[in-house]
Amino acid sequence: MMFQSRNARSALFLFAAVCVAGVTAFGATPAASNEGIKSNHGWAIAIHGGAGENEWEHMDSATESAYHESLAKALAAGSAVLKRHGKALDAVEAAVKVLEDDPLFNAGRGSAFAADGKNEMDAAIMDGGTLAAGSIADVQFTRHPVSLARAVMEHTPYVMMVGPGADEFSRAQGLEQQPPSFFFTELRWQEFTSIMRASGRPVPPRPVGVAPAPTASSAPHLFVHRFGTVGAVARDSEGHLAAATSTGGMQGKLPGRVGDSPLIGAGTYASDRSCAVSGTGVGEYFIRLTLARQVCTLVEQGQTSQQAADHMIHDELPALKGGEGGVIVVAPVGDPIWSSNTLGMFRAKEVEGSGPDIHVK
Ligand code: ASP
Repeated sequence: MMFQSRNARSALFLFAAVCVAGVTAFGATPAASNEGIKSNHGWAIAIHGGAGENEWEHMDSATESAYHESLAKALAAGSAVLKRHGKALDAVEAAVKVLEDDPLFNAGRGSAFAADGKNEMDAAIMDGGTLAAGSIADVQFTRHPVSLARAVMEHTPYVMMVGPGADEFSRAQGLEQQPPSFFFTELRWQEFTSIMRASGRPVPPRPVGVAPAPTASSAPHLFVHRFGTVGAVARDSEGHLAAATSTGGMQGKLPGRVGDSPLIGAGTYASDRSCAVSGTGVGEYFIRLTLARQVCTLVEQGQTSQQAADHMIHDELPALKGGEGGVIVVAPVGDPIWSSNTLGMFRAKEVEGSGPDIHVK
């Protein structure tokens, strides 16, 4: 157990002291830089469950309705917060937690595997009202990585923590921990092993504690959902914006690889002055373009969020050969929008006064 020895307790005390000092010195919760920008445009939320190509060509109706149901559940969790005049930050966390628990998506339970057969999960959350942000990368045991990102934002002077240090912080925060077998799904493993074989790399042993490999006849029908990252953006009834993104990253990635999702400004960004953005796609391109921040910059310069997102997704992203993906965006005014240059993107939205709008295809 952590923090049980005297040295460890002293370390915890030191850490707490540094955090307290840090909160004061660095302002872990920055002053409300965007205060005064209030919206009378009602609450709004959008979520995504990743983008992709081939899977949209071959999606059968059972898969389609399973994704529809999952999106509806996650959207409802986020909308419920906003309906009772909760904060955008709480709404995006609530929606993403539901998606992280859902094995259909590549985040939390159902995450992709690194080349060594382990899950390395990344997540970020950002408060558009204060520009406070938290993110984590390469964590292996936290049931809800988005909540760990929020804990980094709220309980440390930092923005980002990674690897074993982030896992240890998660335990110290009392966040729910789970063994690798919890995050494992047969479907994602089959997808992983086929990618490893296709690229001529060795397939690592199945994680400890998971059921033996199914026989060919009982193997799950392989629905390869290439990206599968999840995210949410929201505007609350006070007009504040927030964004969150969570992912298992790319299947077969080298251990230690980090994508765009947890990088503030790349896959996740929120500012009440412009918009809140969550992305999905090949992270390396989103990082090079600081895509999420760039969408917000274009909005600040006068473009609508649709124009800004379309420019980044349909012009800038494909201009870098291999740049594929999509974003969801919400601004201080108007309905949430989305844009993707892939065949499909699982997405859904709801705005105050109207019902859920869910798109699987
Ligand atoms: N953007 C994620 C990454 O590069 C992948 C995804 O969207 O599914 O890690």
